[in-house]
Amino acid sequence: MGKGGWMHDESPRIYRRWGGNPKGNPEDVTCCIEPVSDGGRSPLSSQCSRPRGKGLDGLYCGIHARRYPAAPPPAQRTDNG
Ligand SMILES: [Zn+2]
Repeated sequence: MGKGGWMHDESPRIYRRWGGNPKGNPEDVTCCIEPVSDGGRSPLSSQCSRPRGKGLDGLYCGIHARRYPAAPPPAQRTDNG
C-alpha cells in the first residue's frame, strides 16, 4: 500500500478491525472514507462521519478532500485517430 489512502480494490473498506473485532466495521458508502483516529490511547480509527462527494473520486468530505484532491484530468493526447 502506498503512503496513506486506500487501495482502490479494497471494497468495502473496513474500519476498526483488530484482533478483538476481526470483521471490523464495513464502510458506510454514503460517508467520507477517511479514517479518523479515536484519539487518546486508542489505536483504532473510525470512518469519517461526514457525507462524501468531494476530493479524489468523490470519496471524501469537504475537509478531507483538501488532503486528497481530485485527480487532474488526463493530459490531452494528440495521437488519437
Ligand atoms: Zn472526512
